[in-house]
Amino acid sequence: MAIIKKSPDEIEKIAASGRVLARCHRLMRSKARPGVTTGDLDAAAERFIRSQGAEPVFKGYRGFPGSICASPNSMVVHGIPGSYELKRGDILSVDIGVQLDGWVADAAVTLPIGPISAVATGLLASTREALFEAVEQCRPDNRLGDVCAAVQRRVEADGYSVIRSLVGHGVGRDMHEDPQIPNFGRPGSGPELEEGMVLAIEPMVNAGSHEVRMGNDDWAVYSRDGSLAAHFEHTVAITSNGPRILSPWHEGEEGSLSAAEGAAVRA
Ligand code: MG
Repeated sequence: MAIIKKSPDEIEKIAASGRVLARCHRLMRSKARPGVTTGDLDAAAERFIRSQGAEPVFKGYRGFPGSICASPNSMVVHGIPGSYELKRGDILSVDIGVQLDGWVADAAVTLPIGPISAVATGLLASTREALFEAVEQCRPDNRLGDVCAAVQRRVEADGYSVIRSLVGHGVGRDMHEDPQIPNFGRPGSGPELEEGMVLAIEPMVNAGSHEVRMGNDDWAVYSRDGSLAAHFEHTVAITSNGPRILSPWHEGEEGSLSAAEGAAVRA
């Protein structure tokens, strides 16, 4: 395993990609309403990303047809956007990868569509919190296992299950670099974290059992028991000062696009 460390300049490039990505997530949040299809969201995301001079990295990746992954309800990840129409009470996981100037940022959010059930609310809160607790562990001299264990601890304390067969990853020039980052593990185990590493940390959590199954399209992954699933992801750089989130979709969550961004999207 070779973890490719990034220079400060390279981290700034990933941050620039991450800013486009964060704005794209804000756009998705503003558009994800009952009656909208996942195909509509995909088209809007692609238009926005390209309007920023960037590229949607998922599109064409191993033949994936979409610019985003859009995974409703019991679908965990890798949903192909299409005719599925959102309805009140759904949850929708949206995963987006952006490449700008040759550098990739990757992030995911699970969105509530209108009012959602108590189970769904708890699942989203726990998965999101697990992500931020894992990000806190992204410091020089910690080990990768500290990051993995932080996710598992939060999720299991809340009574949900981390999916074993899907992992986070290093990110940089390529969307998937070493190391693999499971959402479970032992504190103090695994490679030491060092300044310059950039990690895509992505808790994927089922409300029921941790088992998953593949969909008929050979892309979508579902919870095996049909329980709801959530997915939150950030691209994070390890700096001498600790973690730096490079895909800040959580900032300004109340706000929407600036007038200029809105114009770019409508153009
Ligand atoms: Mg990822």
